[in-house]
Amino acid sequence: MSRHPLPERVEIRDVGPRDGLQPEAPVSVADRIHLIDALQDAGVKRIEVAAFVSPRAVPAMAGAADVLTGLRRRPGVAYAALVPNLKGAELALAAGVDELTVTISVSEAYNQSNVKMSTAESEAVVAAVCARAGAVPVDAVVSCAFGSPYEGDIAPTRVAALAARLLASGCARITCADTTGMATPRRVDELVDATGPDIGLHLHDTRGTALVNAYAGLERGVRRFDTAVGGLGGSPFAAGAAGNLATEDLVALLDDLGVATGIDVEALVEVAALVAEMVDHPVPGRVATAGPLTRRAAPDR
Ligand code: MG
Repeated sequence: MSRHPLPERVEIRDVGPRDGLQPEAPVSVADRIHLIDALQDAGVKRIEVAAFVSPRAVPAMAGAADVLTGLRRRPGVAYAALVPNLKGAELALAAGVDELTVTISVSEAYNQSNVKMSTAESEAVVAAVCARAGAVPVDAVVSCAFGSPYEGDIAPTRVAALAARLLASGCARITCADTTGMATPRRVDELVDATGPDIGLHLHDTRGTALVNAYAGLERGVRRFDTAVGGLGGSPFAAGAAGNLATEDLVALLDDLGVATGIDVEALVEVAALVAEMVDHPVPGRVATAGPLTRRAAPDR
């Protein structure tokens, strides 16, 4: 089997300030803005900065509007926010968001457990958000795209069918999320067979497969990846779910492969150290721990 050439460039959306921090003890708005600043200093061009959810339900995301209105905007950087419903979308749009993220599960049981709605009901919510968003793009993150903790394997054709309906209802982009860490390179291959390569991949390292899955996606021409600096963020609703693929781990691999990201891995490692201080525990990312490939031991000893 011949290998496809790798893409020259990929787009990385760092979801650390939202997905990464959401399961952690609350970090102040000022520190979250500081983190966003550090990420854009490192060259990150798409950042998920906040979630417009109930601060009672998710205390870590309190102050979402303050984060969006308080951050120091850079030209060429897109600031995204997760919204669960039309009300959240209206608040995010009023705060000047560049991109909305919505989540919907292809697994009926997971969707019911997560948002107390059927997948069809969530599709109607997404359509309403798209109608309200106008020119602001909506990225639908399809959770459990590689398997459900309730239903087991999810057929890639089901993901592709849901993705097609979401695009038809006004979503600009589809991102397939490995919410529970069930993806493998074979499953990535089979998913891309069904959806085509114009998807984002949101990978988790629950079973140690996030980076090989990203590589499998790259080989199939996928050009968009969700990652979190330091590898923070598991789903609080999926037992045992470890963090997101660490941004610096993916960037270090892409640097070695000659795939451009515009991101400085040395700077990212510093951001990972910063975020470890903010959450007050070590981060799981490997490159953050070991240092990038370019960092060599002193030769004379
Ligand atoms: Mg995640």
